[in-house]
Amino acid sequence: MDSFRQSLRQRLAEHEKASLLRQRRTLFSPQGTEIILDGEHVTSFCSNDYLGLAGHPDVIDAYRQGVEDFGAGSGASHLVSGHLAPHRALEEELAVFTGRSRALVFSSGYMANVGTLTTLLGKGDGVFEDRLNHASLLDGGLFSGAVFKRYPHLDTSVLDKKLGETGAGRKLLVSDGVFSMDGDTAPLPELIQVAGKHDAVLMIDDAHGFGVLGEKGGGLVQHWQEQGIAIDENNLQVLVGTFGKAFGGSGAFVAGSEELIETLIQFCRPYIYTTAMPPGMAEALRVSLKLVQKDRWRRDYLRNMIGRFRRFCDELGLTLLPSETPIQAIVLEDVETTLAASRALLESGIYVSAIRPPTVPQGTSRLRVTFSAVHTEDQFSKLLNGLTRVAAIREAAGQQGKWS
Ligand code: PMP
Repeated sequence: MDSFRQSLRQRLAEHEKASLLRQRRTLFSPQGTEIILDGEHVTSFCSNDYLGLAGHPDVIDAYRQGVEDFGAGSGASHLVSGHLAPHRALEEELAVFTGRSRALVFSSGYMANVGTLTTLLGKGDGVFEDRLNHASLLDGGLFSGAVFKRYPHLDTSVLDKKLGETGAGRKLLVSDGVFSMDGDTAPLPELIQVAGKHDAVLMIDDAHGFGVLGEKGGGLVQHWQEQGIAIDENNLQVLVGTFGKAFGGSGAFVAGSEELIETLIQFCRPYIYTTAMPPGMAEALRVSLKLVQKDRWRRDYLRNMIGRFRRFCDELGLTLLPSETPIQAIVLEDVETTLAASRALLESGIYVSAIRPPTVPQGTSRLRVTFSAVHTEDQFSKLLNGLTRVAAIREAAGQQGKWS
């Protein structure tokens, strides 16, 4: 074997030895709460389809109709000939939904974040990120060439200090709205206050908050506006959402001022040099957006299930991270215990993925349970039963000194 392949093989072997090798499991069914995973019928608690819209008949119909009306693919990038009427309509509706001047649709959230950060920042600038931010935000900050500073999770006093010390030109403060692996939320009013104090621009990626928080699914921003906090594009300048979670589709958007969006259209390379989202998807998302706002019962149902789940875990002595969102993390610390717990659940017909480093920090491996508004009472009971096995595994690991 040549030295190139040899070196790849060695890297993979080291990854496997550290129990970090990932495997892609194949679904032979649509995404949903009952899935066929590698041929096995299981109940899933690990998709981000929080509102259950990925399988909603109206969304699927709109997708189908969109394909019939506008074809399977967009055929070009937005600046050439791939910007179709469904994209334009979706952007206009998103601007109204977010209360911002304009919105721009991207083909993925990863591209929206990397593209926005690398467009807004360069040498001489500074980017300040919560250390648990999503990889796409961290990567975007690193790729931008700006001085990159991370602050401890949610710690606005360290952030305040770091911003006070910097000599950077443009200062960009970046945070997840709802943290993707923990489920807790950014302290938005404090972030606005600190950013304002230091004349920094604030960017929030609320991928997991849209659809889930706020009376009409307007996310973390709407949640705080309902508490009387004034938030608009002047104090939260860059607002990101993705369509792969509560909207049940794929893609993402950035919302903000006229100047922000026009700057992205002109200079954002991951926006310019890629094929536009398929127009059928944009049509489907326009229907999702309506359902997100209209179907309040989905958020109410989730809230009830989350409360009951947390009380049950508490009784079992399972450690949960603080979270009021559909992302509920049972921290089992070491990789082996977490994998064993995930396997035990799978044997009980429940699929919950094990989240390990580097996705989360060392020693914080976890089961990431996610709820959907279309989980039934029976499926929920099945999960709770399965968790008693997880508690036993955790207990056994503790007796072997693995649990501190
Ligand atoms: N931001 C956050 C907070 C995310 O969790 C994710 C994906 N899970 C993304 C961005 C990337 O979005 P996409 O999957 O559309 O690339």
